[in-house]
Amino acid sequence: MNLKIAIIGSGPSAFYTAQSLIKKNINCEIDIIEKLFCPYGLIRFGVAPDHQSTKNVSRVFERVLNNPNVEFFGGVEINDYPSINEILEIYDSVVIATGMAKDRVLNINEKNKTGYFGATQFVNWYNGHPEYKNLNPCLNTDTAIIIGNGNVAIDCARILVKTIKELESTDITQYAIDTLKNSSIKNIYIIGRRGPLDAKFTTVEIREMGELLDCDTILSPGTKNNIDKKLLDGDLAKQYRILTSFDESKPKNSNKSKTVEFKFHLSPTEFIGENEITGLKFKNNLSSNEDCITINAGLVISAIGYQGDEITGLKSDESGMIIHKNNIIEDRLYAAGWVSRGPSGVIGTNKHDGARVAEHIENNVKSKNSSGREGLKKLLNLKNKKYISKEQWFKIDQEEIKRANKSSPRIKFTSHEDVFNFIDSI
Ligand code: NAP
Repeated sequence: MNLKIAIIGSGPSAFYTAQSLIKKNINCEIDIIEKLFCPYGLIRFGVAPDHQSTKNVSRVFERVLNNPNVEFFGGVEINDYPSINEILEIYDSVVIATGMAKDRVLNINEKNKTGYFGATQFVNWYNGHPEYKNLNPCLNTDTAIIIGNGNVAIDCARILVKTIKELESTDITQYAIDTLKNSSIKNIYIIGRRGPLDAKFTTVEIREMGELLDCDTILSPGTKNNIDKKLLDGDLAKQYRILTSFDESKPKNSNKSKTVEFKFHLSPTEFIGENEITGLKFKNNLSSNEDCITINAGLVISAIGYQGDEITGLKSDESGMIIHKNNIIEDRLYAAGWVSRGPSGVIGTNKHDGARVAEHIENNVKSKNSSGREGLKKLLNLKNKKYISKEQWFKIDQEEIKRANKSSPRIKFTSHEDVFNFIDSI
């Protein structure tokens, strides 16, 4: 038996699936097919550039990629051509691990408003995602609002308030550094629709907000009085202690130039400003009447979670989650990671999905003498589609590290064109 397995997507859930298949010693050939030229998905484009240690897991994934039975097909989008059905025809089993790449929509009047971004746009921009490198957010405003109480909201705030010195030792893109250098933003409001104890931040991330070189983090006045201490248990108590270590006003003797303020119990209701945003109205969720407040701001980022992209030929629900049962979509076709369970958990959470899918494949998939890798190469050749192999990716990786200056770990390629030019030049 030599099973031919295709994994669509190359983020953590894709690599944990491949790792589980390898660990099980299943005699198989695994092709990781990715629409971008580079592997690792959220590790490269989602994890904040100043959280380099979180990115270390890519070394584990690199070892998976180095396995002689694993190949990488970068720059190959499975949708119209080749389609899922075409891939299913040439492989014994196919795993969908495409994650969730779009912003959940706010659904008020944000459409076509200049100054409004979803967090995935903003995060992908500073992280050098080829589809977002030209986002060009205008930071020529003194106030920004970030909606949402998750770690992505904190990531966006941290990047906006860190000093250039704090960012230079990261792999943030140079164009983002240049934009941030000229930023006028002094005040950021992070807004939660529920209370501080309902926030989804993790403790490490909140603690970091108290350790910024040029920014004070404060709570909205009255926050501490509004917390119901009866609800405090283990993890919440820890979160509470860190959060309430922040003052409710900017320290009088502070010489820091920026402020982040956490505000709670507010739901956004209406953007103000014809085309360009000048502010945002919020409903006070603690009030029984129609109390609302307005915050003036020229930049609004909604960090309210992710949504999946449609994949032609696969059924998904309104959040973009693929319809499946216990990770089985249909015979020989499986789903792993966020696309199967929604955008939650840490990177390691994807291990369980990978293990489950590998087990299904071990127990249920039989070889049908599929053409696998050779079949895919033929399909791509038929339409003159170029792809990045794993050997080429390793060269790109080396080049990015080589180009870096003393303090930063790498300077990323940010366009397919540059990558293919580089490959042609070596
Ligand atoms: P998240 O943790 O689900 O947080 C989303 C936030 O948006 C919640 O506070 C939610 O409030 C709020 N929200 C949702 N719809 C809203 C609406 N219509 N109006 C106002 N607020 C709304 O999502 P995330 O921050 O995108 O993170 C996704 C996953 O990645 C999480 O598991 C996160 O921990 C992980 N992540 C981890 C790190 C890290 O470890 N450093 C960094 C980034 C991301 P409710 O709670 O009221 O629904």
